[in-house]
Amino acid sequence: MKAAARKRLAQLLAVPSPSGEEGAIQAHVAQQLRPSVKGIHRDVHGNQYYPLPRKGKPRVMLCAHCDEIGLMVRGIDEHGFLQISPIGGVDGSTLQGQRVRIGNVRGVIGCPPIHFRASDEKPKPVSIDKLWVDIGARNKAEAARRVTIGDALVLDTPVTWLRNDRIAARGLDNRIGVFILMETLKRLSRRRLAVDVMGVTSVQEEVGLRGATTSGYRCDPQVAINLDVNFATDHPHADGARWGETALSAGPILARGAGVNPQLLTAFQAVAKQNAIPLQYRAEPEASGTDASALQRTRGGVATLDMGIPNRYMHTAVETVCLEDVTHCVELLTAWVAQCNGTSDYTPR
Ligand SMILES: [Zn+2]
Repeated sequence: MKAAARKRLAQLLAVPSPSGEEGAIQAHVAQQLRPSVKGIHRDVHGNQYYPLPRKGKPRVMLCAHCDEIGLMVRGIDEHGFLQISPIGGVDGSTLQGQRVRIGNVRGVIGCPPIHFRASDEKPKPVSIDKLWVDIGARNKAEAARRVTIGDALVLDTPVTWLRNDRIAARGLDNRIGVFILMETLKRLSRRRLAVDVMGVTSVQEEVGLRGATTSGYRCDPQVAINLDVNFATDHPHADGARWGETALSAGPILARGAGVNPQLLTAFQAVAKQNAIPLQYRAEPEASGTDASALQRTRGGVATLDMGIPNRYMHTAVETVCLEDVTHCVELLTAWVAQCNGTSDYTPR
């Protein structure tokens, strides 16, 4: 990936986007895409739309959720420590000892010293409602002047650039999908297209696919491509036999199953082959848990494909992806849209 693209990615990853507080990331994406698309708009729910209008059918919706998991201030105790609740699927065992941000306020998630544990005492499972955030306040009144019940927190962790074009950061789920959407829309804006394209950064995926439900209805597409992270199982203690054998640097992961339109999948496979892009597959016999399953059930039904970016350590502060896979996702999506025309029939046979 070129240096300019890496810089754009770093800028995007610097913007927090906990579910329900996506305004800052939507503003950042709008500013980046304004020169490339025609008339960005945001709906009452917070979803944002990037039209590349053409006269042709079908209307193709390219969707990436822009929210990330996080935490929320549930209460403040008499000493000024914050009680917290999870926003989305947060693993409590990954939180102790981490730095957090609540807007401009910095804090840490406290942890009793190991020294306080008796030598024969086993570590206890960590329940998030027993954790606390320390912002350095002396008492409840001081803390209450800086934070309010219902404020969202994110972990305050840097992006770490690893070897072999791999990066680790929190919330690559799904700001990496947003990045792929942005890069693809920029490329498509310079191409002649035979179909109507609507890019969407949906909100509140991590708390129940809410933004895809409302934006899918508003967009009314015939075809929807969803961009989200998917599991890479190429690390210690990952059960490939149970979760599937998928790896970093091995290409986009396409889901197969009831939620995926078979004709659309075949078309993507052909375009991947023409462009020498490697593919991996994920068996999804039921609902995928991504925005794709909401999009598929929009109105009278939408031909849907779920494109996954392989991601190690999902829903932790060190989610890890490979930029080569990211580039392959951009190339595959751009090439598929560019060859798309109104002649395809997506009725399953
Ligand atoms: Zn996601």
